[in-house]
Amino acid sequence: MTTFAEIGVDSKIIKAIEELGFENPMPVQEKVISYLMREDSGDVIALAQTGTGKTAAFGLPLIQKTDISVKHIQHLVLCPTRELCLQISNDLTSYSKYKSGIKIAAVYGGASAETQIRDIKKGAQIISATPGRLNDLIDRGVVNLSKIKTVVLDEADEMLNMGFRDELESILAETPAGKNTLLFSATMPNEVMAIANRYMKNPEEITVGKRNSGAENVEHVCYMVHAKDRYLALKRIADFYPEIYGIIFCRTRYETKEVAEQLVKDGYNAEALHGDLSQQQRDAVMNKFRIKHLKLLVATDVAARGLDVDSLTHIINYNLPEDLEIYTHRSGRTGRAGKTGISIIIANLKEKHSLNTIEKQINKKFKHLPIPSGKEICEKQLFYLVDRMQNVELNDTQIDSFLPDIYKKLETVPKEELIKRFVSLEFNRFLDYYNNTPDLNVPSDGGSRSRGNSTASGFTRFFINLGKTDDLKPANLIGMVNDYTGVRNIDIGDIEILKNFSFFEADSNYKDKILDGFQNKSFKKRKIGIEIASGKKGRSEQKQESGNDRKRFKRGPSRDKAKQKKNYKH
Ligand code: AMP
Repeated sequence: MTTFAEIGVDSKIIKAIEELGFENPMPVQEKVISYLMREDSGDVIALAQTGTGKTAAFGLPLIQKTDISVKHIQHLVLCPTRELCLQISNDLTSYSKYKSGIKIAAVYGGASAETQIRDIKKGAQIISATPGRLNDLIDRGVVNLSKIKTVVLDEADEMLNMGFRDELESILAETPAGKNTLLFSATMPNEVMAIANRYMKNPEEITVGKRNSGAENVEHVCYMVHAKDRYLALKRIADFYPEIYGIIFCRTRYETKEVAEQLVKDGYNAEALHGDLSQQQRDAVMNKFRIKHLKLLVATDVAARGLDVDSLTHIINYNLPEDLEIYTHRSGRTGRAGKTGISIIIANLKEKHSLNTIEKQINKKFKHLPIPSGKEICEKQLFYLVDRMQNVELNDTQIDSFLPDIYKKLETVPKEELIKRFVSLEFNRFLDYYNNTPDLNVPSDGGSRSRGNSTASGFTRFFINLGKTDDLKPANLIGMVNDYTGVRNIDIGDIEILKNFSFFEADSNYKDKILDGFQNKSFKKRKIGIEIASGKKGRSEQKQESGNDRKRFKRGPSRDKAKQKKNYKH
């Protein structure tokens, strides 16, 4: 097995990383580090997921190449979120523990700039930064990138997904032509390739695993249900895996709140993470999740970025992301650091086409499993309880003094009855709930409730600022889609009329026509606001959720339970 010394890492760094438990380089480290340690090394494109050890892959060479006698910025790491930015600066600080004279600063939005400016002025040689705040500091004359030797674009696809393209370009324009650029990305969409072509010179392409493939040790599972049964299916899945520790991904912050609130009401250890929370609230939820005081985190993609947890057992796609490339990011959050994981999709029949696209993307097939029946869940939970009982640590000294009285109280109850009673105490909740629960599985042809001739190309979900208070009815929405687009036969999917706003789905082929058609229109004297209510969000909203310094995107109230959900076709 290759050692860090063999690929050129110096002994002081090795001492520090050994303390962190790094014994041998991970595959991406072996390839990237040995290349960067070469005299003639140049630009690098590395296709690597989070959790593959990429921070050390670029971090160790940066530290080793830092000239401690010089007190200006030599290396810049750009990344999409505040959380990742802090994690990178903390990791680099740990790696350089025994290299005195190295200063590392973190520059990110959502926190006071003053401390960051002070750290830079103290002579930081390495900066880890989010693009928004770094641009501000460049504009204020605090950061000078004219002498840097390396720029790392970490999670480049995420930065572009979040709308940081302009910021990235203006930062790169400040850097000298002779620098090296290292680009790390989990996926390689055209937008990332465009950046690479424009700003990199003959990059060395390093791929760990297959291009755009899902992590090797992740199993991809699909449960097919009717859309209306999504939540019930989620509960069954959560109950079927008693040791679940995972993230449930939703498309919008509204959905995130609703699912989390319902789970809490139903007795699950869950909480929501989304952009309506303050940074402090987000940090609190993330910390609770990190230390496993929370088993299920219900999150939007943007809010979950930067949350770095290695031991997730499951990822659940409550709804698929609109941009299917994001599935790779979601699933890559499990099966990390050598562990195995399961990435689950709760899908309905009209999403079959999307599933095929994802399968091509990850280069793996989904395992289609039936939603577990009540009986199967009860069996699983029961044996989990028995296992826990078998393995529980007995605190003899604490319990012993109570035992004589307890024995006396229970002396007439036979052993079999005693076991039955203890099990029932814990287990009746499941037995009651799952007594006579229906089968949630859909027949493969979609059964009688199939949407029949709905387009396989998929639907786009729209948010509109009209709701019950405007007396909006499904028929009004359908009428407006017809009238404002001038097209009479656009397929409409689910319509959810909430109190002050609503969601509706329509054939994705007419996405732009609908957005354009609804511009500058009013309904009962109220100006209509419409936007796409899914994964790929408006820039201001994404940046807000990611903890960067942008204004909040305002829309109606955060919560509304009165929900009307049907499938419509006209
Ligand atoms: P990253 O992809 O950089 O976020 O790293 C994922 C996880 O792997 C982190 O918890 C690292 O501390 C850990 N890690 C990175 N390199 C190694 C290594 N060579 N040996 C063991 N663990 C590592």
